[in-house]
Amino acid sequence: MWIFYKFMYPRAPKSMMPKEGDVTTLRQCNFCANHLAEYRGVLETNAVAPTNAINPTTMDDKTVNNELFFCNYEHQADFHAGKRYQP
Ligand SMILES: [Zn+2]
Repeated sequence: MWIFYKFMYPRAPKSMMPKEGDVTTLRQCNFCANHLAEYRGVLETNAVAPTNAINPTTMDDKTVNNELFFCNYEHQADFHAGKRYQP
């Protein structure tokens, strides 16, 4: 079984570990509000956040700085598509 696992994910154990220079600061996903280390997600700088125009009351320091953070590209795409997170 472990051979199969190794074949499927040959670099998994190493790539899951933080590398030197990785930002391990805990951040919150702008889409699903999940917390995870910055280097494991997608940080979008100088982002144009369409939700700011829709709901200005949610604007905080991060959105003012035009920084958005997501768990993955899927959440990033869904956020910009104007979708709402469905748990
Ligand atoms: Zn997310």
